[in-house]
Amino acid sequence: MTIFAPSSHSAPLAASLEPGTASADQAPLKLLIAAPRGFCAGVDRAIEIVERALDRFDQQVYVRHEIVHNRFVVEGLKAKGAVFVEDLEEVPDGAPVVFSAHGVPKQIPAEATARGLDWLDATCPLVSKVHRQAERHAEAGRHILFVGHKGHPEVIGTMGQVPEGTISLVETLDDVAALSFPNGTPLAFLTQTTLSVDDTRDIVAELRARFPEIAGPRAEDICYATSNRQTAVKAIAARCDLLLVIGAPNSSNSLRLVEVAERSGTAAKLIQRGTDIDPAWLAGVTTLGLTAGASAPEVLVREVVDQLARWRKVDEETITTTVENMVFKLPRQLTD
Ligand code: SF4
Repeated sequence: MTIFAPSSHSAPLAASLEPGTASADQAPLKLLIAAPRGFCAGVDRAIEIVERALDRFDQQVYVRHEIVHNRFVVEGLKAKGAVFVEDLEEVPDGAPVVFSAHGVPKQIPAEATARGLDWLDATCPLVSKVHRQAERHAEAGRHILFVGHKGHPEVIGTMGQVPEGTISLVETLDDVAALSFPNGTPLAFLTQTTLSVDDTRDIVAELRARFPEIAGPRAEDICYATSNRQTAVKAIAARCDLLLVIGAPNSSNSLRLVEVAERSGTAAKLIQRGTDIDPAWLAGVTTLGLTAGASAPEVLVREVVDQLARWRKVDEETITTTVENMVFKLPRQLTD
């Protein structure tokens, strides 16, 4: 991710961009807002699971890991009474606990059941689908090459669906080149749901080239929301002097949106809220792009627009590349 460097456009100086100084003599800011952006169906569902659990249980509701990677969302749920923990050991016996949208290794629900915890699984159904594929490949005796980012909770969760030694992580083309298996080893590949569409296409092509018999999904497992948000950024990036992505530093799909803009030759900045914007960034910017990662709520988009309007007259335009209408069902425990 690069730091934004002001371009060579003739520009109002940073000194004229102090908060609260929007004035008629400053050039209006054309704001291109990408659509789709923000919450996906998996995030909507995960948040609703926590909210319904808070309504349903008379006792403290625990959430293992940030339910989705967004501080604003987590703080909002904390304010409603949810307690966030990183480890199941922090959850008292008998308490309700929700597993985050990223998914968990198999031993976590097993451990929760053994301890009598009332657990709810907010794993996104599209991540669960990858979990089931991993199980099937392992049952068929295939060694799985999992394309993803080391340390991300989704990767830990998916790799934790199958016995150790039956799955290897692949992050780069160099990792693919370094792979070596005895002739005839049955192989399969799967991918994290929130990767760069372009990078993953290259890695999958290389896997197929090196191991022509490899089993795998027809395309990769990148989810509709990740892919749609990247396409929407591609549609506006070339028209923008700078693109802002609302998202958390640990949000994989948000980081990918920054990369997509940068690869289109447009500087991009990841921000968590409107107050993160340095008005100096707007020096020389005539057209600004704006999007939000899948875990960032729309209220933050409006907050950013309001913040920008403190410094410049904002002329908003939404550029829609596709309309999403995906909805995922809630777990039966919460709908019965
Ligand atoms: S980004 Fe994709 S995989 Fe992740 S929660 Fe949203 S829909 Fe599910």
